Amino acid sequence: MQKKMDMTTKILIYMGFGLVVGSLINAFASEVAFIQDYFVNGLFHVVGALFINALKMLVVPLVTFSLICGICGIGDVGVLGRIGVKAFLLFMLTTALAITLAISVSVIIGPGEGFDMTQAAASTFVAQPAPPLTQVFIDLIPSNPVAAYAEGNMLQIIFFTILFAVCVLMIGERGKPIAEGAERLNEVMMQVVNVVMLAAPIGIFALIAKVFSEQGVGMILPMMSYFAVVATVLLLHTTGTLMILLKVLGRVSPMIFLKKMRSVQLFAFSTASSNATIPITLRTAEKRLGVDNSTASFVVPFGATINMDGTAIMQGVATVFIANVYGIDLGLMGYLTVIGMAVLASIGTAGVPGVGLIMLAMVFHQVGLPIEGIALIMGVDRLLDMMRTAVNVTGDAAITTIVARSEDKISMETFNDPKAGVVEEIHLPHGSSQSSKV
Ligand code: ASP
Repeated sequence: MQKKMDMTTKILIYMGFGLVVGSLINAFASEVAFIQDYFVNGLFHVVGALFINALKMLVVPLVTFSLICGICGIGDVGVLGRIGVKAFLLFMLTTALAITLAISVSVIIGPGEGFDMTQAAASTFVAQPAPPLTQVFIDLIPSNPVAAYAEGNMLQIIFFTILFAVCVLMIGERGKPIAEGAERLNEVMMQVVNVVMLAAPIGIFALIAKVFSEQGVGMILPMMSYFAVVATVLLLHTTGTLMILLKVLGRVSPMIFLKKMRSVQLFAFSTASSNATIPITLRTAEKRLGVDNSTASFVVPFGATINMDGTAIMQGVATVFIANVYGIDLGLMGYLTVIGMAVLASIGTAGVPGVGLIMLAMVFHQVGLPIEGIALIMGVDRLLDMMRTAVNVTGDAAITTIVARSEDKISMETFNDPKAGVVEEIHLPHGSSQSSKV
């Protein structure tokens, strides 16, 4: 029997193909109107946008049903509070560790020293106002839950759904049909995730081909020192800090974790959005890593919203880089302020593409660095956004695993089983079936 290629490999191949096609267009056809109109801004744009929409379409219903299931599954508000506090503290800890590592490595390497401003692409950055922190807290409670659902405001959705599910528990027997209904709906949504994932290779090809046809790899060159330091620290954090935490606090094998996270990272990389990746992170946490729905349904969307290790790393390196370019000495106090600000800024800022730069403006403002400096790094931000989003989602899943382990809400049998969560058969209408492994 012919061996079916697994989904992650398939995605990787299509991604590589997209990279080659995109880079070729960038190098040889950036002025060819036909290619630009019909492929870059036509086919790639439409297919990529359709795929992102399909992923985003899953987020709100999946999080809602999954969370109701999860809370009803825990059945104890005290436990829920404990899980929440643990997850929150760990998210803050990993973000603080990430940015501290970023600043330390940058101070040692010194990117931006002797930087030649004339080489950088001329662009301007218009700072968008970041929401004041008080507003972030006020906005935790939706004044209109329907609006929160319509806008996909994750923290508000989490707040309302938890309250709703806790009240389902409180009405006892009579709440059971609702809990059971949510369980079925969750099952259906998980299946919708499986179906949408079948389109992933094509969708990811289109997204990558578009990005690379617009962004020549050559534009990295003048910014090489900045780019290389961000990339190095992202790698160090993922393969070092997070893996040590998984081993020490989670007592699980980091290698198995990383292997099972590959497809989630590819989705995050291609979409540059932790939010759009929630369905895949959630599915992987539950079906592949064995985390109980009661923990994953809450910690994964919470993390996608408030935990951004990769983003913090970019901000740490960017701060040192711009300070060096402008010859400004921030001093220890300056760096400590940056760490505190970046950790706070990551709360309440949704995991969507490019948001890291908006938060960076807030950090710069606080330590008195020139906001215009952001224009220098803007050109390479799209690529770095993709890379840091992959790190953000890895952090979300790592903390979900650690919290689940500490609560004994993980099946180690599933975690250690390389085949767990593999979608063997997806039955599509008219009796056709397709196999995929994610
Ligand atoms: N794109 C990132 C995310 O969704 C956020 C950012 O750094 O811009 O996680």
